[in-house]
Amino acid sequence: MGQFQKRLIDWYDKNARVLPWRSSASPYQVLVSEFMLQQTQVDTVLPYYERFLEVFPNLEVLAAADEQEVLKLWEGLGYYRRALNLHRSARKVVECFDGKLPSNRDDLLKLPGVGPYTAAAIASIAFGEAVAAVDGNIRRVYARLFAVEGALGEKDTETKLQSLAADSLLRERPGDYNQALMDLGATVCLPRKPMCDSCPLFEVCLAFQKGLVAALPRRKPKPKVPHLTIVAAVIKDGEKVLIAQRAKGDLLGGMWEFPGGTLEKSDTSKQAGLKREIMEELGVMIDVGEPFGVYKHAYTHYKITLHAFLARLKAGESLDKPHGEPECQTYRWVKPGVLKDFPMGKVDRIISEKLIVRKSTNTQ
Ligand code: SF4
Repeated sequence: MGQFQKRLIDWYDKNARVLPWRSSASPYQVLVSEFMLQQTQVDTVLPYYERFLEVFPNLEVLAAADEQEVLKLWEGLGYYRRALNLHRSARKVVECFDGKLPSNRDDLLKLPGVGPYTAAAIASIAFGEAVAAVDGNIRRVYARLFAVEGALGEKDTETKLQSLAADSLLRERPGDYNQALMDLGATVCLPRKPMCDSCPLFEVCLAFQKGLVAALPRRKPKPKVPHLTIVAAVIKDGEKVLIAQRAKGDLLGGMWEFPGGTLEKSDTSKQAGLKREIMEELGVMIDVGEPFGVYKHAYTHYKITLHAFLARLKAGESLDKPHGEPECQTYRWVKPGVLKDFPMGKVDRIISEKLIVRKSTNTQ
C-alpha cells in the first residue's frame, strides 16, 4: 500500500460518515442509495432513502410496484428520470438476472440509468470489485492531489483523471477506498474553501505544495443558462380541476401537471400562448381567466418563470372530442383534495397546494 492510500484509508477508518447504506447494507440498498445520490447531497437523500426502503424493502417488491407509486415516493427529490430508471433496473434484474443484482461493473452497466460511475460504485461497495468510481467530487480531489491543470470536461483531462484513479485504487479495499475519496471530497476537499489544514493528504497534495488549491480544478466556461417563460392553465369544471400526465421520455416524464407549455415569440400575449398550447396539447379551446400566480424554478440546464391562469373549456368543447390529434392522451378531472395522490414536480405541487388552500378558505 502506497503512502497516499495508507493515509487516506487510515483517515476513513476513523472518520467515515455513518450512513444507512454502508456497513451491513445489502446490494439493493447500495443500488437505491447510488441512484438517489446522483446529483443530490447526502443530507437531502437520507429521509427519502428511509421512506423508500420502508415501502420497497427489496428488489422484488420494487420491481412489482406501480410506476406512479415509485414517482410519488420520489417527489421532491428531483431528477425524476432516476426514479423511472431505478424502477426499470429492478424489473430488468428480475427478468434478466434471476432477481440478483449483477456483481460486476460490466453487467451493472446494462441496467437503465447506470453509468460508469454508478456501476463502479455499486460493484466496489456492494461486491468488492477492484474498480475506481470517479464522480464530480472525486475528480476534484484527484485534480488537486496531482495538480492536473487541464479543465474538467476536456477529453485529455478526463482520461488523465480516470487513469490516476485506476492506478491509485487500493485493490485490497476498493469499496472503502472509493468511499474514502467520496467522504474526503464531501467533507474536507470542498469545492470552495477546502480544509487543507485538517486534510490527511496535505503533505502529499501537489496543489497544496504548489499553491494551486484555489485554482484547481479548472473548469470550462459555463454556457449561459436559457430562461424560458412557461404558461399553464388551471382549468376548472365545477369543483374539479384538470391535470395531464407528461409524456414518458420528457423532463418529468410520467409526472402530472397543469397543462401548458413554453411561450413562443409569435404569441401575442401570455393568454394567447396558453390557448395555443392547450389546443396543441389537449385539442380544446379555453377561456382564460384571472392569473393564478407566477412561479420561478431552476432545472439543471435552464430556468423557468411559469405564469398560471385560471381557465375553463369554452362552451361546447370536450376533451373526448378533441380538434386534431392532441399531444397529450392522459388526463384526469380531479377534486383538489386528491391532487396529493398524483406525483408532481415542484411548481405544480405549489399550485396544487394553493388550490387546496383556496378551496378551504372559500368553504369556511
Ligand atoms: Fe484537497 Fe487541500 Fe487535501 Fe489537497 S490538501 S486534497 S486541496 S483538502
